[in-house]
Formats: sequence, structure tokens, C-alpha cells
Amino acid sequence: MSQDLASLTAQVLAFRDARDWAQFHTSEQLAKCISIEAAELLECYLWKQPAEADTQKVAAELADIFYAVLLMANTLGFDLAEELKKKLAENAEKYPVDKSKGNNKKYDVL
Ligand SMILES: [Mg+2]
Repeated sequence: MSQDLASLTAQVLAFRDARDWAQFHTSEQLAKCISIEAAELLECYLWKQPAEADTQKVAAELADIFYAVLLMANTLGFDLAEELKKKLAENAEKYPVDKSKGNNKKYDVL
């Protein structure tokens, strides 16, 4: 990783603020943006085998999602790194290695 979340968020906010776009970036609009960008990511794979997807386009759509995620976390005052750590801890409880290693069953049927 080249930069930490705080540095990347600062760059995203500078980009947004230079354009006076904060007024448009409500949590609802950003949630829509994340969902729409995720759909654009899926479109990269539509009617293709995974290996046929344009990896540059996939990377660009991931970056679009990440951009909106950073903005939404900032808008809501979330520490995204801390939220991810909490989620990993929750998932470690749901998916203990001895039960989940090598299988894709959901936690409620492990
Ligand atoms: Mg996009």
C-alpha cells in the first residue's frame, strides 16, 4: 500500500472541496454512488468469463467505489480503519478457522 487512509481521504476531500461538491455529498447520495459504482464493477464481468474482464476497467471501478466509500466514511465521521478492524474481529468469531477453512458456507450453517 502506498498511502494510509488518512492521507487518501485528505486527497479525496481536497478534490471534492476544490469543486464545491460537499453540498451534493449527503450520506444518501454517497450510498447510491457506491451501489451504482458497484454495478459498474459487475458490468465489467457481464457476459464474460472472469479472465476476459478488462482489468484496467475493473481497477478504475474499484477506485470509484473506494473514492465514494472514503467520502461517505468522512461524511458520517467514521474511522474506516477502526470499522474494518471491528468487522474482521466479528467475522473471525463467525468464521472460526477450524470450521470455515476451505469451505464457503455461511456462518449460520457452519
Ligand atoms: Mg465508475
